[in-house]
Parts: sequence; structure tokens; C-alpha cells
Amino acid sequence: MKLYSTNDRNKLVTFREAVLKGISKDGGLFMPVSLPKMPDAFFERINILDMQDIAFAVSRTLLKEEIPDYDMFGIIRRAFTFTAPLVNLGKDKYVLELFHGPTLAFKDFGARFLAETLSYFNKDENKELVILVATSGDTGSAVANGFHNVPGVKVVLLYPSGKVSRIQEQQLTTLGGNVTALEILGNFDDCQRMVKQAFADNELTSKVRISSANSINIARLLPQSFYYHYAYSQVEDRDKDVVFSVPSGNFGNLTGGLFAKEMGLPVHKFIAAVNTNDIFPQYLKTGEFKPKASVQTISNAMDVGNPSNFARISSLFQGSVANVKDVIYSRSYTDDQTKNAINEVNNRYGYLIDPHGAVGYMALNDYLNENPGLYSSIVLETAHPAKFKDIVEKSSGTAVTVPKNLEQCLNKEKRSIVLPNEYEALKNILL
Ligand SMILES: *Cc1c(COP(=O)(O)O)cnc(C)c1O
Repeated sequence: MKLYSTNDRNKLVTFREAVLKGISKDGGLFMPVSLPKMPDAFFERINILDMQDIAFAVSRTLLKEEIPDYDMFGIIRRAFTFTAPLVNLGKDKYVLELFHGPTLAFKDFGARFLAETLSYFNKDENKELVILVATSGDTGSAVANGFHNVPGVKVVLLYPSGKVSRIQEQQLTTLGGNVTALEILGNFDDCQRMVKQAFADNELTSKVRISSANSINIARLLPQSFYYHYAYSQVEDRDKDVVFSVPSGNFGNLTGGLFAKEMGLPVHKFIAAVNTNDIFPQYLKTGEFKPKASVQTISNAMDVGNPSNFARISSLFQGSVANVKDVIYSRSYTDDQTKNAINEVNNRYGYLIDPHGAVGYMALNDYLNENPGLYSSIVLETAHPAKFKDIVEKSSGTAVTVPKNLEQCLNKEKRSIVLPNEYEALKNILL
């Protein structure tokens, strides 16, 4: 696969280079030059394929020139140890549960595929690779889980002391093995600054190989296209038009869906569901992309004021807002509406949905009301409701069952190294 930078269409890199670099030197994001169509036979017999079959079929179509089938098969088998069931709410309305991975959020798909491909491309290096991640919660634990026990790789996480939820802190600090959690006496910006300083420190980088497993890495996006195919494989009537509602923040999940469509998945519309951070629906309305400071909400994984994948979406549609609008519909919702929606989904369907999924549910209903027709409509449920237990229970009046692996994680002993918010302290640890 050849990729260009969204800042320069003419300089191409291989998938290997794109994965190892993360971001282009010119500051642009890597995008595939073209996405091949999956063969008709794939869609004709898609209903008999499972998540791993689909992941393998799509990834070999994209990457067979760089990763031989045998190795790709191993990558897929190790990355996707869990599946993505489609739950039928009735009347062709579905929820795609993306929270069955180890950290109970959809980021496990991207983080685990990235971990496997990065360690695959790293295997000929004889020096250990240190993955350095500043996290305000969910991304860090998905990345750490993905790299947990991967040979030749060490993970160092920095998180702001007292500023992540208890569940998040337990997920960050109880892995052990090759994962070290640094509890920084400061805020998230301090953590990020310290990591940036490490990458800019020539003395350090000459002694230690560090990489960032960044959220904009192309290896996190590709696997986010697999479960759109898998959702389609599970709908009852594949002759109906399919619409996907995607709770969105940085728009990586939605970009994965656009890749699936480019590869031939028959998607009628994507619905970009956002909270009060409404940059994207405003862009569709006015044609102007105006990033803002983010606002805190109860669907906090979508509190993004400058969606990082906008550059990719824009380049995929040749910078034309009219082209984007043909494929993507978008609406924004407040926290009060979100709480009501959690309650409504429980009353109507007996299904407990998390705040992110609830935003997706509302946007789907608005789309269906404005565009009557016969659809198979699918809400992507991006996190397990137990991760937002208090809000879900308060909004629905119903108890949330905590999954076993989360329960176990909550009972484990927390292990972190407390550090001041000074770069020298981090450097000493890394050396
Ligand atoms: C990260 C995240 C999102 C937003 O996904 P993007 O790819 O950034 O749009 C939505 N829901 C949950 C639970 C998340 O963790």
C-alpha cells in the first residue's frame, strides 16, 4: 500500500514507513493513495465470515505486498481475540457492540492492530522499542493492553495524578510486565509536554529507541474499517440500504467506515453524532471548518474541539463540503438530551447504552425522521455502559452489570511511579 501525506500528495511512503513514523515530517497525516475494492465473492458470502475472517480478507487485500499471508494471519489472530456482535433492537435497528475488547471500548481494535504491526516491523531491530504515551484515560489503556507482553517492546504511560477516573487509573496501573505507569503530579498538558520533550531530546533518542503509537497512526485506522463489514455481514436483510451512526470525537472511527465504503461496502449514509463539541455539523452547515477549545461533557471521549482526522476526510472528498454532505450527515446533542436518550433506549428496548452510544442513537433517529425509507440502521456502541456506571444508572434507574474482567481489574493492586511534572524526572527513568 502506498500512502501520501495530506500536506503533499506527491511524496509517497510504504505502509511500513507510515506505521513507524506515525505522522509525516511535513505535519500531514498519511492516507492511502487508493483503496482497492473487495471482490464480489467477498460480499456474496460475507454472512458466513466471522470477525477474524473479515479482518484477514480486508487486511491482505490492502497489505499483501508488505506483509505475507502467514504473518498477517498471526497479526489478526493475536489482535482480535474478541468480536463485535450486532444486537437487534427490532425493526431493522441495531447496535454494534464494539466494547468486547480488554479495555471495554472500541479503541481496542485500533490499538491492538497497531501494536501487532509495529512490533512486526520492529522485529529485525535488535534494540528494544519504548512506546511513550501521554494519556488522559482511554487511549493509554488500550495502547498499553495492545502492547502488553509483546516481545521487544516496553510501554511507558504518563497520566495526570488524580485527574483520571478510578476505572481508568486501574486499567492503566495494574497491567505490570512490560508496562510502566508514571503518575505525574500535574495535568494532562504537562504529561504531553514531557513526552514531546523526550522526542526532541537528541541525547535521549540516540540511546533509547522511542515511538509514540499515536492516535493518528494509519495502523489504528485500517482495522476500524473491519467491523463495518462485519456489522453488514450480521444484518438480517442485506438488500436494504445500510446507515451507520458513529459517535465521533477525532473522527477516526468514522474515517474507518469511509475506508470500508471505498472498498465497496454498500453504505447509504454515515451519521456523525457529536456532543456539544459541534465543529463538524457546523462545518457541514457553513462550509467552514472552525476548531474551538473543547467543552467537557458526559460523553467525554468525544470532547474534541479540533478533530484530528478532519484532514483525512477533507482530502478523501477533494476538499468539497458538498461531496462530504453526500455521504455524511451530522447532528450535535447536549448532556441533558443524552441522559434522556439513555433512559429512552432502556424503556423502549430494555437495552443499557452508554453516553457515547446514546448520542449515536439520537442522531440516528433524527436522520430516519428526516429521511424516511427502508434501512438497516446501525448505532456503533463505542464503550461498555459499566465504564460510565454512575451516569447510566442515574439516567435509566437500572443497575449496570460490571463485566468480569473489569471487576478483576478494579480489585488488582495499583502500581505507579509518582513523578514531578519535570522532564528530567522522565528522562532519568527512560535512561
Ligand atoms: C475515542 C472514543 C470515541 C470517539 O472516537 P473518534 O474515533 O475519536 O471519533 C467515541 N466513544 C468512545 C467511547 C471513545 O473512546
